Amino acid sequence: MKVKGLAALKAGGPLESFEFERRSPSATDVVFTITHAGICHSDIHQVREEWGPALFPMVPGHEIVGVVTEIGNSVSKFKIGDRIGVGVFIDSCRICEPCKSGLQQYCDEGMTGTYNGYERDGKTIAFGGYSNGFVIDQDYAVTIPSNLDMAGVAPLLCAGITLYSPIKHFKVTKGSKVAVMGLGGLGHMGVKFAAAMGAEVTVLSHSANKKEDALRMGAQDFVVVRSDDDLKPLKRKFDLILNTVSAMVDINQYLATLKIDGTLVIIGLPDSPYAVSAGAMLNGRKSLTGSMIGGMPELQEMLNFAGQHNIVSDIELINADYVEEAYRRTVASDVKYRFVIDASTFATF
Ligand code: NAP
Ligand code: ZN
Ligand code: ZN
Repeated sequence: MKVKGLAALKAGGPLESFEFERRSPSATDVVFTITHAGICHSDIHQVREEWGPALFPMVPGHEIVGVVTEIGNSVSKFKIGDRIGVGVFIDSCRICEPCKSGLQQYCDEGMTGTYNGYERDGKTIAFGGYSNGFVIDQDYAVTIPSNLDMAGVAPLLCAGITLYSPIKHFKVTKGSKVAVMGLGGLGHMGVKFAAAMGAEVTVLSHSANKKEDALRMGAQDFVVVRSDDDLKPLKRKFDLILNTVSAMVDINQYLATLKIDGTLVIIGLPDSPYAVSAGAMLNGRKSLTGSMIGGMPELQEMLNFAGQHNIVSDIELINADYVEEAYRRTVASDVKYRFVIDASTFATF
């Protein structure tokens, strides 16, 4: 199947018009027309090789939604016309312990990423969502609740699940005191999900102009963090901190805002290691952990929860010709709060 999209042909881009073939569907594959694709900061990190050498040409995009146009003979999960989504991986080994328990993102062989890697055959470059058509095995796709707007749903496939998963895992509930570091694509979904689960949410941001938005999304408090002094009044306040910041920060100052036995979850993936002081960890028996997206069962659970609570992402809908500018604005923390590409515009770009 011929599709059109955008690719970086070399590290750093630019993203150019790119035509390529997707595989013919197997018996268990689903073919769909992509309607919308979100722009995750991870796309930018990878196009720019901020996480190390990457694979080019690269068609980024792992927040993908669309409408099913064709199904293989053995497909039972979808029918033509269904609204479907694909996230950060397109396959995994399916037999290891993590895969069998629905934690495909932690597959022992490594998940098969939606782009910047090879498909399971080991030789076909996997091309992501900045394109107008997709082919996916039914087991690695999810169903989108009928009441939700497609453009607003696209970011749930990465940003949404990446915050939903630790919020569930660390048992956020009514009255939990949760801090979200960074109000970007991931952070704003964290505010919405944690608030929907009854938490008291504080946003820790370096952008003073996001306060009103944070409160509208369900946060109770908004603290501008420009220096370590700004965190001092928050000493021992939080049960859980969700760190979604894409750049390097001094984690030790944030650990001091955790209650005894509190947990800081690393979610943002900056290009260099964090420095953590022993004192900051042991004074209050703090936990420092990480979390990566979510598995297939949890991805569907998250979408169902979003459907029940009417949760979608706040987005700016853009055309294919705005992607470079969207990258620039995302890196400048000027994103309200996810750029989503209208995939019909790839055909004419
Ligand atoms: P984003 O939309 O750019 O949001 C990041 C936010 O971090 C910004 O909006 C900004 O919020 C804050 N920030 C940025 N630069 C900063 C700086 N120099 N100092 C302090 N704060 C700064 O990015 P995203 O798409 O949400 O992704 C966030 C990170 O998570 C990226 O590193 C991405 O690769 C990673 N990620 C991880 C997973 C996972 O599975 N763990 C999944 C997806 C993405 P304020 O303006 O409010 O300060
Ligand atoms: Zn992502
Ligand atoms: Zn596996």
